Amino acid sequence: MPSSVVLGAGGFIGSHLVKRLKREGFSVRGADLKRPEFGETVADDFMVGDLRDPAFVHSVLGDGADHVYQLAADMGGAGFIFTGDNDADVMHNSATINLNVADASRTVRIGRLFYSSSACIYPERNQLDPSTPVTAEASAYPAAPDSEYGWEKLFSERMYAAYSRNYGLTVRMARFHNIFGEEGTWTGGREKAPAAMCRKVAEASDGGSIEVWGDGLQTRSFLYIEECLEGVRRLMESDVTEPLNIGSEEMITINGLAEMVAELSGKSITIRNIPGPTGVRGRNSDNTLIRERLGWAPSESLKDGIERTYAWVARRVKESAETAVST
Ligand code: NAD
Repeated sequence: MPSSVVLGAGGFIGSHLVKRLKREGFSVRGADLKRPEFGETVADDFMVGDLRDPAFVHSVLGDGADHVYQLAADMGGAGFIFTGDNDADVMHNSATINLNVADASRTVRIGRLFYSSSACIYPERNQLDPSTPVTAEASAYPAAPDSEYGWEKLFSERMYAAYSRNYGLTVRMARFHNIFGEEGTWTGGREKAPAAMCRKVAEASDGGSIEVWGDGLQTRSFLYIEECLEGVRRLMESDVTEPLNIGSEEMITINGLAEMVAELSGKSITIRNIPGPTGVRGRNSDNTLIRERLGWAPSESLKDGIERTYAWVARRVKESAETAVST
């Protein structure tokens, strides 16, 4: 049985990846600061600990594994990444994890390592026009990400590439573009736009209003978790060594996203645009390279994924309202 390790297995993408790898017949060891929030893990074993500690990284990797997926990071949505308040922690914590993992790969057998980078590495100058953002992989340099989160991702991409060059580590890297779906953070300050919109709409009454940060004309694309994992697995099994975008090309304004959620909910909702952290003005995935290299790219409509995610978030909102009433 092929073996795998998922670092960050208590998080959103990691916990879904564990399920996928189990379905595919891998043995899976998960590791994270915390166990998954929305259901028991299906990993064969799950180690709770801090990957900033090199000894913990060594104990998790043990004698090595065929596949290691490095998803652990100190991260969140715009309210966490773009305020500036968490910059030092984001850089220090995520860089330390990646330094530890890369260094362990010199002494432990790792068949291949997957690293989850981000669309946040792309230069801000190419994302000022919301209608024509540029995110072709080659446009990453000269580098000028708009957040420290993006700079750390770029640093770690380069570090894994250097370990590949100097120590023969086999690495696959993806730049994720706004992944969303069920069992993602939906409240508490680290949630991202799709889950936040779903929560706000689920909490609003029919005829009510929701707040949306910025003028709402900033654009993004959002990729449903299952297609993200399809891309991850295809990339991992490929011989592609350069970072590839894994994202959707269906660009939408943030107000458009809010309207889509409102429509799916069946409620009549007014949008109130208020000042708030927004990140770059426009961003979309450019899937030219992934199509060329893997002969595949995400194709599912945003609406389908949002429909499933709204149903899930609405259930969480209902449950927490019921708990609040009964206590
Ligand atoms: P997430 O926050 O749900 O998962 C990250 C996990 O890392 C969390 O469970 C957290 O507890 C764990 N972690 C953080 N610090 C740790 C530490 N010191 N030791 C052990 N575990 C630690 O995030 P996610 O959405 O699942 O993202 C997974 C990866 O994909 C991250 O590297 C993220 O930067 C990257 N990414 C995600 C998106 C997205 O839209 N979700 C976009 C671009 C990149």
